[in-house]
Amino acid sequence: IQWEKQVRDSAQIRRPNGMSVLVTGAAGFVGSHVSLALKKRGDGVVGLDNFNSYYDPSLKKDRKALLNSHNVFIVEGDVNDQKLLAKLFDVVAFTHVMHLAAQAGVRYAMENPQSYIHSNIAGLVTLLEACKNANPQPRIVWASSSSVYGLNEKVPFSESDRTDQPASLYAATKKAGEEITHTYNHIYGLSITGLRFFTVYGPWGRPDMAYFSFTRNILQGKPITVYRGKNQVDLARDFTYIDDIVKGCVGSLDTAGKSTGSGGKKKGPAPYRIFNLGNTSPVTVPTLVNILERHLKVKAKKNIIDMPGNGDVPFTHANISLAQRELGYKPTTDLQTGLKKFVRWYLSYYGYNHGRPVY
Ligand code: NAD
Repeated sequence: IQWEKQVRDSAQIRRPNGMSVLVTGAAGFVGSHVSLALKKRGDGVVGLDNFNSYYDPSLKKDRKALLNSHNVFIVEGDVNDQKLLAKLFDVVAFTHVMHLAAQAGVRYAMENPQSYIHSNIAGLVTLLEACKNANPQPRIVWASSSSVYGLNEKVPFSESDRTDQPASLYAATKKAGEEITHTYNHIYGLSITGLRFFTVYGPWGRPDMAYFSFTRNILQGKPITVYRGKNQVDLARDFTYIDDIVKGCVGSLDTAGKSTGSGGKKKGPAPYRIFNLGNTSPVTVPTLVNILERHLKVKAKKNIIDMPGNGDVPFTHANISLAQRELGYKPTTDLQTGLKKFVRWYLSYYGYNHGRPVY
């Protein structure tokens, strides 16, 4: 009963024409930012996260505390828990689902392939089934990834480019997710929007990502490993600042097609959309390191090696004209500025000596 009340309160809409959104992966990097942004403008938000230990669980707990302080309640549970999802949809008539829960990371798949199948395939299907059975059916926006472009070397990547050469199991599960969601759109009329994020970074970010682990190592005086691609070419990424990604997510929710029916009945074509959310200005990894050195005022000890064949791709670069046109998406933060904000957060959170977190 207490649980139900917390869920209902958190889902409360406080603006005209607002939405009530179930955010999966709400204790994660992107999920926590999106949840906060929605709550701040008056939408109802309920989080769901299994608080797995893929990376430092205390960071997830601190994000949860931050969200709790803004009246966002996060249910601890797995997207594979069919009963839990049914109960959530029973308690709240969610208008939207923002599905961000996933096993992220490319290299972790070498040791833990099953966790990608569990969260990114089985979990996605369990969630889609729950949405299909819900009345009303919520509109779904979910995170795919730029990694679906895989070994495609034609840049910038457009949504219609080939995605049949994934370079990692992670990428393969995201590609499978795009096909699975398409079938749910086609058969059950679920409104689906898939977002291909390009290397998201910023405050409260993910410790397994290069910009984050480089910062930690540089401050601790430890060497960083910088990969170099074929023919000594530097790797490059279309780094995208978290606030820009949040705007793209919110824009996708705002423009998601109307729910087409109830109880799984098909009542006409619902939209199936895919968008790139990137920054359109790739930066090489050595340049990323230079910017970090400048912000941290410490020189990095670099260990430059040839890229091992572990799932990374040499470069990413988004064409975002579709998102610009359809979602009004327009990234505004360059890497210099975004990393400055990240470093400021990092130092206040961990302290120079990795002391207790400070908000
Ligand atoms: P994250 O790991 O910080 O967040 C994911 C959250 O989902 C975590 O808090 C985790 O505990 C939770 N989770 C994982 N499996 C779950 C399950 N089975 N049930 C319930 N909760 C579960 O990652 P992120 O960077 O915030 O990524 C969010 C989404 O965006 C993911 O789908 C990711 O694949 C995708 N994505 C991220 C990036 C990026 O650069 N950050 C790029 C492309 C795509």
